[in-house]
Amino acid sequence: MSHVMNTYARLPVAFERGEGPWLWDMQGKRYLDALAGVAVNGLGHAHPRLTARLQEQVGRLVHTSNIYEIALQEKLGDRLAEISGMDSVFFCNSGCEANEAAIKLARLYGHKQGIEAPAIIVMEKAFHGRTIATLTATGSRKAQAGFEPLLAGFVRVPCDDLEAVRRVAANNRNVVAVLVELIQGEGGVNVCRDDYLTGLRAICDEYKWLLMLDEVQSGTGRTGKWFAFQHSGVKPDVVTLAKGLGNGVPIGTCLAAGPAATLFKPGSHGSTFGGNPLACAAGLETLAIIEDEGLIQNAIAIGEYIRTQLRSRLAGIPGVKDVRGAGLMIGIELGSPCGEIVSHALDDGLLVNVTVDTVVRLLPPLIYTPQEAELVVDKLAPLIVGFLERQPASGAPHPAPQPA
Ligand code: PLP
Repeated sequence: MSHVMNTYARLPVAFERGEGPWLWDMQGKRYLDALAGVAVNGLGHAHPRLTARLQEQVGRLVHTSNIYEIALQEKLGDRLAEISGMDSVFFCNSGCEANEAAIKLARLYGHKQGIEAPAIIVMEKAFHGRTIATLTATGSRKAQAGFEPLLAGFVRVPCDDLEAVRRVAANNRNVVAVLVELIQGEGGVNVCRDDYLTGLRAICDEYKWLLMLDEVQSGTGRTGKWFAFQHSGVKPDVVTLAKGLGNGVPIGTCLAAGPAATLFKPGSHGSTFGGNPLACAAGLETLAIIEDEGLIQNAIAIGEYIRTQLRSRLAGIPGVKDVRGAGLMIGIELGSPCGEIVSHALDDGLLVNVTVDTVVRLLPPLIYTPQEAELVVDKLAPLIVGFLERQPASGAPHPAPQPA
């Protein structure tokens, strides 16, 4: 019997080593990674430059404590401020902790204005993490079930619906912030309309709310900008980042600008491991490699190629509802639950994921070459077609998916 708690429905494969976008299992079978540890390994596996930097840092200093100054934390803070346009950074170890920091900032912000029970607007289908506060913010009853009582102080609205936010604004004086993923990852690769963020910014300005963006999955270059919000001209007040920042070394950050940037004082918040020398070395080197290797531009080109090819290969196939995404955050929505595609892909040496039962999700490393992108399409398109052919006929074919 395993002594590991039974929290994951794991696939029957264990990996022994990796190189670039490739992984090898214990039996020596090779897999093309189109999931990157769920948007973590943007540089792929065992990147030589990152490996050398981590080895050097491990031999020098792994951890001290936030009791002391940490030069690498300052350096990474400067770099994150530079690429995001934000003013200050709190370091933690994961996405949920980054969102916890954002939620605490919003509550402090509210109390400062004399609001005793501050509330945060969150979205249907959102995913913000598994701690009690971030689980409450998450818009999935399935994830929440059994963990009640959840927390007070959250108001849920449909995503991409500015009118719904305005209705809350008119009726709830306790709201202090909006928390949103511009592209919902776990929720099905749902991309918000271009004008949604501009509209949210205007509402937040009008009511003096904090605009808080969860870029835990969409950040670190994945969508073709350092941050998904940079596709618009809008500046948020709070942004959270994790997953891809350390390329697998755990690190999370909560970035803040304007009034939110100075809310935390000594004692307000903290973390034992957050921003330790090893994590910050990983973050700094990952960002440097992304820049030096032009990986953000690569994410745009490769992502566009994969979406275009999949749209053309799946055009007119009954049961294909949509091919969408931005950069290397890609979703293929089918008309029926399609979890079995993950196992078929695994048999075929390809790592993909299915979320919300019906969306095949690709989150490839940012280092993909055009050949690797072609291979993903060549492997995945027939798997999807084969899966759909095995489904009971469901009436008229869906129209061919249109480019976004
Ligand atoms: N926020 C988003 C958008 C995520 O996709 C995730 C994880 O999938 C989280 C938060 C939680 O991150 P973590 O698992 O590192 O706590």
